[in-house]
Amino acid sequence: MKTISVVVPAYNEEACIPALVEKVKEAFAPINQYQYELIIVDDGSSDNSFAIIKELSAKNKFVKGIKLSRNMGHQAALDCGLKNASGDAIISMDADLQHPPELIHEMIRLWAEEGYEIVNTQKLENEDAGFIYKIWAKSFYAFFNRYSQIKLTPSGSDFRLLSRKALEAILSMPEYHKFYRGLVNFVGFKATSIPFDVQKRFAGKRKYNFKQSLRLASDGLVSFSDFALKFPIIIGAFVFGGVILYMFYALTSLLFFNGTFEKGWTSLVAIMILSFSIQLIFMGILGVYVGKIYFEVKRRPTFFTEEKVGDFPA
Ligand code: UDP
Ligand code: MG
Repeated sequence: MKTISVVVPAYNEEACIPALVEKVKEAFAPINQYQYELIIVDDGSSDNSFAIIKELSAKNKFVKGIKLSRNMGHQAALDCGLKNASGDAIISMDADLQHPPELIHEMIRLWAEEGYEIVNTQKLENEDAGFIYKIWAKSFYAFFNRYSQIKLTPSGSDFRLLSRKALEAILSMPEYHKFYRGLVNFVGFKATSIPFDVQKRFAGKRKYNFKQSLRLASDGLVSFSDFALKFPIIIGAFVFGGVILYMFYALTSLLFFNGTFEKGWTSLVAIMILSFSIQLIFMGILGVYVGKIYFEVKRRPTFFTEEKVGDFPA
């Protein structure tokens, strides 16, 4: 019998967790040819989340919980859940039921019957999102897709199914700042996407504040783009071109049009700016290499596990 893992990062979601467990149980009721597990990763909540997970796990064998040592952030909690999942296919979703568990059925069908290794989802309309958030999200995707190695689907979400093969490929990338939306597209197995209407949060408030969204966005950009590091090259090249033009202008007006340039001063300024621009170009090239090393050296774990409940394989 094949197993499906559902992985859910949860930060202060005590009001959502019981409903989540019920909804997941309901979603699997009609597809009883699969075993399933629900792994809720408590991302260092300060409310009663973990006590509730423990209680639910005692009553339902499929519910498992992992408590992280502190609030490590959504992507790290997701990372933890994915590493602890034992299923043949792994579905990640949010705890607040904004990702409708009703879609699980279709995701599994696309994997089992049509052979997709990755089933992404695309948000249609987010009822909780304000106008500014929408503009922010739009500009992020536009900028990302222009300047990075891979293309992100606009309005993508972390609600997705990964086959065991796709998950192993993604986990084989040992980077510290994980940006799953990017990593999933990076591996490039057979993928599809299903649109869905983002539901209203079941309870509680949004856990991502603007600063965290900004950090996630910059993690994404830094993991998949070295554009910022190359920027000095562009400025340097512009200044370089400008100075060459200026020198040409100075020289022709001096030789042919009786220009009144202070002789020593012009060449001095030109040489100064020229060497400055060359320095910028080389600094940029150095930056590219230093940046590459910077990505690699910090082999820090992304999370620390404090406690586990439920039936995890040894
Ligand atoms: N989350 C988390 N750690 C955090 C922030 C959020 O595990 O530091 C979880 C949260 O509990 C939820 C999911 O990540 O299950 C998405 O968070 P949220 O609903 O606040 O964001 P949004 O739906 O607006 O993307
Ligand atoms: Mg949410």
